[in-house]
Amino acid sequence: MDHTFHSDTLHEVLSRLETDQEQGLSLQEGEKRLAEHGENRLEEAKQAGMLRRVLGQLKDPMILVLLAAAALSFFAGGGQDWLDAAIILLIVLFNTVISVSQEDNARKALEALRKLSAPKARVIRAGLERRLESSQLVPGDIILLEAGDYVPADGRVLWEAGLQADESAMTGESLPVHKRGGGGLPQDTPLAERKNMVIGGTVITGGRGRVVVTATGMDTEMGKIAGLLLRQTQGETPLQRKMGEVSKVLSLVCVGVCAVMFGVGMLQHRDILDMFLTAVALAVAAIPEGLPAIVTIVLAMGVGRMAKRNAIIKRLPAVETLGCASVICSDKTGTLTKNQMTVLEVWTPSPGLRGQALALGTLCGDAKEGPGGYVGDPTETAIAQMAAREGLEKAQLERDMPRQGEAPFDSVRKRMATCHSLPAGGTLIAVKGAPEAVLSRCTQVQGPQGPRPMTEADRRRILGVGSDLAAKALRVLAVAQRNQSGPPKSLEAQELERELIFVGLIGMMDPPRPEVRAAVERCAAAGVRPVMITGDHKDTAVAIARDLNLFRPGDKAIDGPGLDFLPQETLEEEIETFSVYARVTPEHKMRIVRAWQKKGHVVAMTGDGVNDAPALKAADIGCAMGKTGTDVAKGAADMILTDDNFATVVAAVEQGRGIYSNIRKAIHYLLSCNIGEILTIFLATVFSFPHAPLSPVQLLWLNLVTDSLPALALGMEPVEKTVMRQPPRGKQDPLFSRAFSLRLAWQGAMVGGLTLLAYGLGLRLTHDYAIANTMAFATLTLSQLFHAFDVRSEETSLFRLGFFSNPAMNKAFLAGVVLQGLVLLLPPLQGAFSVVPMPLPQWGIVLGLAVTPLVVCEIEKAVRRARTGRPAPVGKEAAVYR
Ligand code: ATP
Repeated sequence: MDHTFHSDTLHEVLSRLETDQEQGLSLQEGEKRLAEHGENRLEEAKQAGMLRRVLGQLKDPMILVLLAAAALSFFAGGGQDWLDAAIILLIVLFNTVISVSQEDNARKALEALRKLSAPKARVIRAGLERRLESSQLVPGDIILLEAGDYVPADGRVLWEAGLQADESAMTGESLPVHKRGGGGLPQDTPLAERKNMVIGGTVITGGRGRVVVTATGMDTEMGKIAGLLLRQTQGETPLQRKMGEVSKVLSLVCVGVCAVMFGVGMLQHRDILDMFLTAVALAVAAIPEGLPAIVTIVLAMGVGRMAKRNAIIKRLPAVETLGCASVICSDKTGTLTKNQMTVLEVWTPSPGLRGQALALGTLCGDAKEGPGGYVGDPTETAIAQMAAREGLEKAQLERDMPRQGEAPFDSVRKRMATCHSLPAGGTLIAVKGAPEAVLSRCTQVQGPQGPRPMTEADRRRILGVGSDLAAKALRVLAVAQRNQSGPPKSLEAQELERELIFVGLIGMMDPPRPEVRAAVERCAAAGVRPVMITGDHKDTAVAIARDLNLFRPGDKAIDGPGLDFLPQETLEEEIETFSVYARVTPEHKMRIVRAWQKKGHVVAMTGDGVNDAPALKAADIGCAMGKTGTDVAKGAADMILTDDNFATVVAAVEQGRGIYSNIRKAIHYLLSCNIGEILTIFLATVFSFPHAPLSPVQLLWLNLVTDSLPALALGMEPVEKTVMRQPPRGKQDPLFSRAFSLRLAWQGAMVGGLTLLAYGLGLRLTHDYAIANTMAFATLTLSQLFHAFDVRSEETSLFRLGFFSNPAMNKAFLAGVVLQGLVLLLPPLQGAFSVVPMPLPQWGIVLGLAVTPLVVCEIEKAVRRARTGRPAPVGKEAAVYR
């Protein structure tokens, strides 16, 4: 494809692309071109094939050792141990299948999430505006761009209003570039100076525009250098990394223990092959090689669960950080409120101007007539709706006074201006925006006999009325105008918004979302402080915050000018006293995040605009709005709220805490079981039991059946109610706290002790090594299966939790018991696992010992509860909620 689209005339571009600037492509043509050009995406590295992934599993050193052990036992045993060898191979196979399929599941879950957050584009096809996935764009499509959008493909600008793009990613130019429609540029214009083109992958930072797509996918400028670009990599989460390290350390410890055991066995002149196989099997069973995988799977599953509850996690580490969040900085409009505005009051400095005020507010807005009323920015639709109700239809107004140009709204100016040609000739400039922002541009007030100069008293009166409206929780906009004989000199905001005549104030209500109040209460109980950050007026903000119980007695509010006045150190000092930050610009958000972080807080922050991106990145958890958020905000965020709702952030914090706690449970279980296994074999060897209480095959079986399934089930435990009744976990709090490590140790010792006890009792009662061995094997597996139940909660009793409230655990338990039952009871399997039928009394002993951990752990929990009087806090005590 040649790239001369920048030098052709607009007419040539459109005819070369065989498209129409108003209608766009037809639907069939869109489909046809998609088939022809392929999807609009950059090629990605191919996913490794199944065989490669299976082979990847086999590279695991544990597996290699096992394969070697199987070979050894086959050859050294003279073929007589072929059964052992076969079982080892089977177990390896099983293990590989499980690992590969689990990895697959985790990958698919994450892939699906990536799709959910894929950017969309606004496209005109068959004359109608549609939202399509950016990947569906084709050359010739007409797309609409506005501030905050990613440019989805290369294109030529057809029309624009103040369109600006940040092209630093492609051209290195760090300042935003103004784009313009119009004729062709010289053929040899370098990329950075093609002002009539937009480049795919860059960002629109201001204004709006209509663009015809000239190239998609690998044909774009970005596609040409795609190989050089950084791909977004999914890094490991801190927990995954930590588990990787822990599992390495533990592996070394295990190998050490096994080596010592092997040495001791040699000194005792045991059979070398036997001893070797036992050592290898113990290493395989005891090394928690599954730890990092379990962490990943539990994280991925948790993330899937959160997606169903409207929170899409973009980076896995955010899940962990969520659980530590101690402050939630939330936008007001649309997040705490419904963003459904209704005009309640129109105030004008003299009577009879109501219609004029509403007409100006309507003209200076982009609300469009849809089938069920006006659509667009709720602030603007509210005004258009009210005007229409009073006989001022927007369509009619625009027919009388067609729009010639505009300076779009932005949250720094807090104003918007449009200019219109008047029926009798001349131009009307209509402005609306925040009262003080509009007032500062007014020199006159509209009076009954026409405009008169604005006095200081006028100004005070207008601002006073504005405050009164705001105190009633209304959002207030001011409208103003200017008439001039000729067209404006330029469409710059500065030129349009000067020497205005003030016409009136419009007050509108935006009711709070009903679920927010309960969410604020949950925050209070959970030691998480919610604060409001808004572009709206301080009085409006405080009135709503008070209504939501987010602004409590003693709390303070501050606004943008106030913040400008406050040095950063003072802000840091006093940050915890503020619950409401009003009239802030996105730069203020940055200072607010920094200040909270300086005080040691973990900050979650919501945002939607282009300018919010830096603050979203700076926050520990940046949350972008899924509905109203710009692509840029979504790109910078860690999490996307598909319903733009504050309550969803709180629910996500709860899930984050729950996921962390579930991972902890899985680790708790795995490690305490492994300690039990090591202890059993190690002590048996050291105390020179003539026969090992467990055979190598039994150990491997244990590893497969009783270790991994319940551990995974613990990862799926429903989030405990208590997680939101504790203060947040400190970000630096160690996972292996003293209490936690101690608990692992004694519970492991208990499981090991019970197994040895079973062996000892078996020997004493029957003097039969085979029965003693069978009893030890059965006790170890069954006690672990029971133990899994008490690990389900660290402090809540199983009676309160409900024995069967985790379906995954029920299944894991059932599967474990059935499989173990088959091995113990079915004659052919008995042979393979070297177990013998047990007499009934021995069964009684085994079952009694097996439930002991459950009973003991429940008693220990009850004692702990009685001592502390309430569930012990997980993290630091500091409750930030005052
Ligand atoms: P939040 O930050 O909580 O979402 P917000 O939506 O009020 O609050 P902005 O969109 O930055 O924040 O708006 C700031 C102010 O600009 C508003 O209080 C209002 O006075 C004014 N404003 C908002 N929308 C428009 C608009 N479409 N045209 C003109 N002025 C507007």
